[in-house]
Amino acid sequence: MSYTANSTRYQNMEYRRCGKSGIKLPAVSLGLWHNFGDVDVLENFRNTLKTAFDHGVTHFDLANNYGPPAGSAEENFGRILHEDFKNYRDELIISTKAGYYMWEGPYGEWGSKKYLVSSLDQSLKRMKLDYVDIFYHHRPDPETPLEETMAALDLIVRQGKALYVGISNYHPEEAAKAFKLLRELGTPCLIHQPKYSMFERWVEKEGLLDLLEREGVGCIPFSPLAQGLLTDKYLHGIPEDSRIAKGVGFLTENNLTEEKLNQIKQLNDIAQQRGQKLAHMALSWILKDPRVTSVLIGASKPEQLKDSLQCLNNTSFSEEELKLINGILG
Ligand code: NDP
Repeated sequence: MSYTANSTRYQNMEYRRCGKSGIKLPAVSLGLWHNFGDVDVLENFRNTLKTAFDHGVTHFDLANNYGPPAGSAEENFGRILHEDFKNYRDELIISTKAGYYMWEGPYGEWGSKKYLVSSLDQSLKRMKLDYVDIFYHHRPDPETPLEETMAALDLIVRQGKALYVGISNYHPEEAAKAFKLLRELGTPCLIHQPKYSMFERWVEKEGLLDLLEREGVGCIPFSPLAQGLLTDKYLHGIPEDSRIAKGVGFLTENNLTEEKLNQIKQLNDIAQQRGQKLAHMALSWILKDPRVTSVLIGASKPEQLKDSLQCLNNTSFSEEELKLINGILG
């Protein structure tokens, strides 16, 4: 039976303007880095996508290399999009990226025009789409001239293969250069996707958020739950169905040091005092900043996605709470 989305889906989600653009994104977006590959269970991720959209999550984030195996998240997403979401394409913001290793030889990664154009063509085929809404350069390339990489993004928009472009993992100095080049080409940068969580605060320290505000570029922090560390799931050991136990990505037992666990416990206490779970507080803490357009979460099951959305119930923090949190994070 075909899927009909919940008619109340737009009632409880907050939509934030992405920089100085015409686009608004849901305050919570869903990423398909983990849990949507061929190694995962199709019916589970089909339901996660439906649950997300039923609750107003209109933005799904992919990349050429998501899986495993690389490419399978886009293929699986494309299948679900066509089986279940085909009536809803115009209600969705779909993004993909290129920058990391995807195929053999000198044209299969980094930031050349050759790689970026070919990679997006492959992504569109895998997802069976004519265009994506946002195409990102996934990581800065130390060797390719930035002029070439940005010209490739501009070309892709002019070819109609993407509506908007973004950059990811760029530090402020190179991001500022990229914004200038894109503006001069007539394709302003829509959004920046940095890693940002209570445990990873370089975007504050290096002034990236200030830069984005000045430039009118949106911000969508990835791994806002530090891949699950900023939840209550590891408080009493490593659950069998957790990302650490599955061992398919970069999060390993080594990341769960005694010091981290101690911080997690203290943060969990503060969350409880706020009437939140730690996962909710970790997301609210990012969303308290109006310069953040959306938090880009992952979810291994539909219930988890629904649970994380509760972060929207309380995104303000007292000075006292912020001081306590900063004290714990050091
Ligand atoms: P998160 O930090 O949100 O971690 C997601 C994981 O946290 C889930 O898989 C789950 O782990 C756990 N979790 C989520 N919600 C809850 C909850 N309510 N309660 C308990 N545990 C929970 O983000 P990701 O690291 O998954 O990254 C999100 C997205 O960001 C990616 O899908 C991708 O789109 C993007 N990204 C971009 C990168 C880039 O370079 N631009 C790099 C990395 C990610 P478990 O599996 O253990 O249940």
